[in-house]
Amino acid sequence: MKILQEILDRKLTISFEVFPPKNDSTFEEVLQATEEIAALKPSFISVTYGAGGKGGKYTMEIARRLQNTDGVETLAHLTCVGAGREDVSAYLQAMKNAGIHNIMALRGDLPEDMSPDAMRESPYPHASDLIREIRAAGDFCIGAACYPEVHVESSVQADDLKYLKEKVEAGADFLTTQMFFDNNLLYNFLYKLRETGVMVPVVPGIMPITGANQVKRALKLSGSFMPRRFTSLVDKFSSSPDAMKQAGIIYACDQIIDLFANGIRHVHVYTMNKPDVAAAILNHLSGILGRIF
Ligand code: FAD
Repeated sequence: MKILQEILDRKLTISFEVFPPKNDSTFEEVLQATEEIAALKPSFISVTYGAGGKGGKYTMEIARRLQNTDGVETLAHLTCVGAGREDVSAYLQAMKNAGIHNIMALRGDLPEDMSPDAMRESPYPHASDLIREIRAAGDFCIGAACYPEVHVESSVQADDLKYLKEKVEAGADFLTTQMFFDNNLLYNFLYKLRETGVMVPVVPGIMPITGANQVKRALKLSGSFMPRRFTSLVDKFSSSPDAMKQAGIIYACDQIIDLFANGIRHVHVYTMNKPDVAAAILNHLSGILGRIF
């Protein structure tokens, strides 16, 4: 099934994200976590693609199992930075063979040894180039990334929005946001996006922060603005793992409830291979989602 249908559904729904292992030694552990998350029956699960284009074989294997063994609709990520045309073509064929119909098309972060000039001369300098290739390759449902707080490489939001429009014109069916901790940032972004004429569904991405280290990592990755209400919570509870976890889950649920209350119908949760966090979120929202556990 194409997950665009799930996103457009009138019901309020939640999807989760998992990431693949870096090597064989942790494959079974990651698989176990993804199966536990699949057992919670989210509307779909996305599987990220290893940074710098590495790890594609694990993304494919986990996505294939989720789709065919666990019976959960899967969104497999694919990055194109540094990839050759044959690599992408082979990967898309492998996805078709595995019965995967949904792809999150990304450029990926520039590897440290790749200069901006080398990137511009590569086969896929931007996600829009990959999206065109996927659209031409078959009947895939395509997602792309968007950044309510502006992508770190863009100096002004107008440029970011212009290139976002290009991604949609290239064939992206929906957009998923980078994490954010203040919903007003999303609402402002949506207003500007619609003004540029981009009307595809936008799926907010919510990251439950359940440990103090995660705050630093999240900031480094996304540069997200942390509102005072959130930093006070980290200051108060980060020295107690149980307290921080509970506070982080409830903060994420509060964000999700506000999104649902303001017209958003589908939220993607960056569950980071943590089945307990995924289950706690569904439990807290069981009445709202109409799912009793
Ligand atoms: P692009 O859309 O190419 O944009 C990158 C930058 O280039 C932006 O500043 C944009 O404004 C600019 N730009 C775009 N098009 C043009 C153009 N034609 N000319 C000039 N400038 C342009 N990374 C991973 O490695 N694996 C993952 O699985 C993964 N999943 C992600 C999922 C989501 C929902 C999000 C939000 C991010 C994810 N990332 C992932 C991170 C992502 O790869 C990085 O943020 C990366 O730096 C940008 O990827 P992109 O697809 O947004 O790139």
